[in-house]
Amino acid sequence: MSFTIQQVMIPVDRGYATVDVQITGQTITAIAPHLEPLGTVINGQDQLLLPGFVNAHTHSSEMWQRGSIPPVPLELWIAELYDFTPLDLERVYLSALGTAVETLLTGGTSVVDHLTLIPGQEFETIATAVKAYQEVGIRAFVAPLIQDESLSASLPDGGLGKQSEAYFRSTQATLDIIEAAVKEFHHPETGVQILTSPTGMQMCSDDLFKGCVELSDRYGLCRHTHLLETKAQAMLAQEKYGRSAVAHLQDLGFLNERTSLAHCVWLTDADIEILAATKSTVVHNALSNLRLGSGIAPVLKYLAAGVNVTFGCDGSASNDSQDLLEAVKMGSILHCVTDVDYKHWITPRKSVEMASLGGATGLNLQDQLGSIEVGKQADLMLYNLSDLSLLPKTDPIGLLILGRPNQVVNQAWVQGKQVVADGQITGIDVDNLKKELFAKSEWASDRPSPMREKMEPHYRQVMNLPV
Ligand SMILES: [Zn+2]
Repeated sequence: MSFTIQQVMIPVDRGYATVDVQITGQTITAIAPHLEPLGTVINGQDQLLLPGFVNAHTHSSEMWQRGSIPPVPLELWIAELYDFTPLDLERVYLSALGTAVETLLTGGTSVVDHLTLIPGQEFETIATAVKAYQEVGIRAFVAPLIQDESLSASLPDGGLGKQSEAYFRSTQATLDIIEAAVKEFHHPETGVQILTSPTGMQMCSDDLFKGCVELSDRYGLCRHTHLLETKAQAMLAQEKYGRSAVAHLQDLGFLNERTSLAHCVWLTDADIEILAATKSTVVHNALSNLRLGSGIAPVLKYLAAGVNVTFGCDGSASNDSQDLLEAVKMGSILHCVTDVDYKHWITPRKSVEMASLGGATGLNLQDQLGSIEVGKQADLMLYNLSDLSLLPKTDPIGLLILGRPNQVVNQAWVQGKQVVADGQITGIDVDNLKKELFAKSEWASDRPSPMREKMEPHYRQVMNLPV
C-alpha cells in the first residue's frame, strides 16, 4: 500500500515548504517539491502536515469520573477516585475507545495509558484496553498501573502514627501478571507495547521497582511511573528513604533512556542533574498539576539541563478532558510566568518538537517516530488550515499551538494506516460510542466519598492545615 500527499505544508528550518510526501507500507519513503504520484493521491493543499504527537501520560478509565471530583489536592482526589473506579470490562473498553478518539482528534497518534487494573481481572483489563486501541488504530503503550502498598501508605506520616493496611496482592503475583501480559500483548511491530509501570514511590516497595527493572531489561520494555507530583510525596520520600525519591530510584536502577516520569513537580537541582545524567524523560501534565494544586513543574530548568520533556493530558478526572493540543498549549505558556527572561520561554515550534520527537524519545523510539523524515514511520497528522479557528492565515504552528484549534484534524495515519479521514475516525463508529457512554453513566454531583472522608483528617494535619 502506497499513497502520496500532494502539495502539503511542512515546517522547515526557516518557515515552511510545500512538498509531496510519499508513504509506502508503514514508512515515509520520499519528500520532495514534486514527486511522481504513487498509489492513492491525497490533496494536501491549505493543510499542514506534522508528526503525530504523543499523549505521554493518561489513565483511560478516569473518563468515567471527569467533571465529577471537586477541586481538592491529589491525595484526597485519588481517594474519591478509588471510591468510584469502574470495575467492569465494558467500561474499561469504552473509556479506552474514548481516550483514543479524543487523543487522535487533538493531534496525538500515540497514547501512554497508565491503566488502572480491575482487581482479580488484571489480565483481562489489559486485554480489553489493547483491543480498544487496536480497533481505533492509535499506537498504544499500555502501562499497567501496579502497586504493592495500600492507598493510606501514600500519605506522609508526620509523626502522627498513620495506619496502613497490607496490600491485597503480593509483589511477585503482581509482577507475574505483568510478565504474562508482556508475553501476550507486547508486539512493538504492530504498534502495541506493554510498559513496566509502578504507580509511584508513594505506593510501591523497592522490590516492586527492582522487579520492574528486571522485567524491563529482560524483555526490552520501557518504564513509566509517577514521580514527585505533590509536596506530600516529597515529604513522604524523606520519611521513607531519608533522601530524595530521584536519588533512590537511580540507585534501584529504574532511571534510564527508556524511562518516562509523569509530573516531576517537586524536584531539586540535584534531582534534575540525575534526570539529565540518566537520560530520563519528564512527562509534563500542566492541566492536571493546576487542577489538583500540585504546583508548576520546573520545565524550563529541565530543558536548560538537557532533560527531555514531553506532554501528557493525564487522566480525564484531573484534566478533565483528553485534548492534547490544549495540554501542549498550557504546558508551554505556563512557564512564561516562571522565568522573567523571555529568551528561555517555549516557542510554538519547540512545543511541537517536545510533543512529537520528545514523546518518541521518552519511549526510546526517536529513530522511528517523531519527525517527518524519509525512513521514519508514517505516524502523521494533517491539519485543516482553512478552519475558522485557524484563520486568518498567519503562522500555522503559532495558530495551532497558541490558539484554540477546534476540530482541525482532517486526516491522520498510524504506521501508514489511515485512522482519521475527513475529520472522522475510521476504525469505530463514534456515534455509537457516544450512545454507549451516555447510556452507561448517570448525572451525578456532590457524591459522598467515604475514602476521602477517612483520609482527610490525617491529610489536613500532616500538611499543617487548620482542622
Ligand atoms: Zn497520572
